[in-house]
Amino acid sequence: MALDVTVPVPHTGGNMSEETLTRIMTAAITAARAPSPEEAATQEETKKRLAHRRMTMLRLVETEQKSILRRQALCSHRKPDGEVAMGGQPMANGRMYKICLRCQKVLVDEPTQEMTLAVNELQRQANEGKMTISRDGKVTVADVEMQVR
Ligand SMILES: [Zn+2]
Repeated sequence: MALDVTVPVPHTGGNMSEETLTRIMTAAITAARAPSPEEAATQEETKKRLAHRRMTMLRLVETEQKSILRRQALCSHRKPDGEVAMGGQPMANGRMYKICLRCQKVLVDEPTQEMTLAVNELQRQANEGKMTISRDGKVTVADVEMQVR
């Protein structure tokens, strides 16, 4: 690649000062690193193509999210036979996480008062060492052993 480097060099009678040498070297390195007009055009085109692709992906994600929200808003969360289509999982904090098996909407039920009391009681027993959980999933509460799925 031919370099087009133009640096004014003062006439010093053949002795190039360190400052001038540094200027020439810096200009040469900068020119060597700079892309050619063709490379610059290719880089610019690549940048535009990537930006366009990113925008397209974002629009697709946005469209998909809107579609999911619309489907969830219109869903009765019931199966065609009228049965509730929600599956649930109680969490250790007493909350119930339910998910619609048709539209995947997640609903969180706050714990009932009975559930809160039960969770607090289990936590109290665990804190007092009365409840243990073995590696194979056996829970022992106040010397009573239970198998947990
Ligand atoms: Zn649903």
